[in-house]
Amino acid sequence: MGARLIDGKALAQQVRDRLAVESAAVLAKTGMKPGLATILVGDDPASHQYVKSKQKACDAAGIYIDDHKLPASTTQAELLSLIEKMNADPKIHGILVQLPLPKHIESRVVLEAVSPDKDADGFHPYNFGRLVEGNPVFEACTPKGVIKMLESTGIAIEGKRAVVLGRSNIVGKPLALMLLQRNATVTICHSKTKDIASVCREADLLLVAIGKAKFVTADMVKEGAVVIDVGTNRWTDGKLCGDVDFEAVSQKAGWISPVPGGVGPMTIAMLLDNTVESAKRMAGMK
Ligand code: NAP
Repeated sequence: MGARLIDGKALAQQVRDRLAVESAAVLAKTGMKPGLATILVGDDPASHQYVKSKQKACDAAGIYIDDHKLPASTTQAELLSLIEKMNADPKIHGILVQLPLPKHIESRVVLEAVSPDKDADGFHPYNFGRLVEGNPVFEACTPKGVIKMLESTGIAIEGKRAVVLGRSNIVGKPLALMLLQRNATVTICHSKTKDIASVCREADLLLVAIGKAKFVTADMVKEGAVVIDVGTNRWTDGKLCGDVDFEAVSQKAGWISPVPGGVGPMTIAMLLDNTVESAKRMAGMK
């Protein structure tokens, strides 16, 4: 492997260690730990696993968890009423509504019901708008984690040619805006982009979030580029893999993040970071 590894797992541990100290400072000043409400509707095993991992990480970082597991039959009105309660609860500084929600509930309505001041996932249109303005408060966890991973390499983002594959509202678009805010020259590719390989080859920073296993091959990557892989897919052997052909691309890239052990742990760490930041803001500590 020629490329240097961007170890998301190790970086996430560093973030959690820092947050444990900051949480203790919030507790000392206010008598309350930073608090995260986790809301999960239904029985999706993957969602239960995600929430469990997030809660475990919160625990390690001294964050109080208010856990709400609701049956799949929960109505939209019942869910909105719980969110209203969490919005008003002074022990809660962040609210996580685990997606996907059951089909009879409109995710957009629910995410907009979360107070923008407790929007730990950064999905509220107010916070998205603040990011568009270049003046963010809560930033979406996955792209925020990708930026921290880029910064960990010590390579300047400013002036670089960044290519983002994927334009979802939770990863591709906010990531492109965060790169723009840091003065990269940004291109966003999507499923209708023509000759995506040649666009990718121009990238100093290649950020991939499309959900297609091993889509990015070595011939699509510039020598020495920084490649960060957001994708989470199952390969034909059942093993977890990213959107990048790690084995081949790591021979050509300068830096590369693995899957698993890359963006996933950083996404969770940024949820914790957003919660602690929120608690500090509410306590007048920043
Ligand atoms: P999404 O909402 O499905 O969006 C996928 C994006 O990729 C769309 O913009 C789509 O283009 C584009 N796309 C699909 N096929 C393409 C192709 N062949 N060429 C170019 N662009 C293509 O997905 P997402 O939520 O952003 O997630 C992307 C991946 O990241 C998934 O594997 C997901 O599991 C993973 N993920 C991981 C984490 C983590 O913490 N590790 C967090 C979030 C997501 P159109 O807009 O034209 O359809």
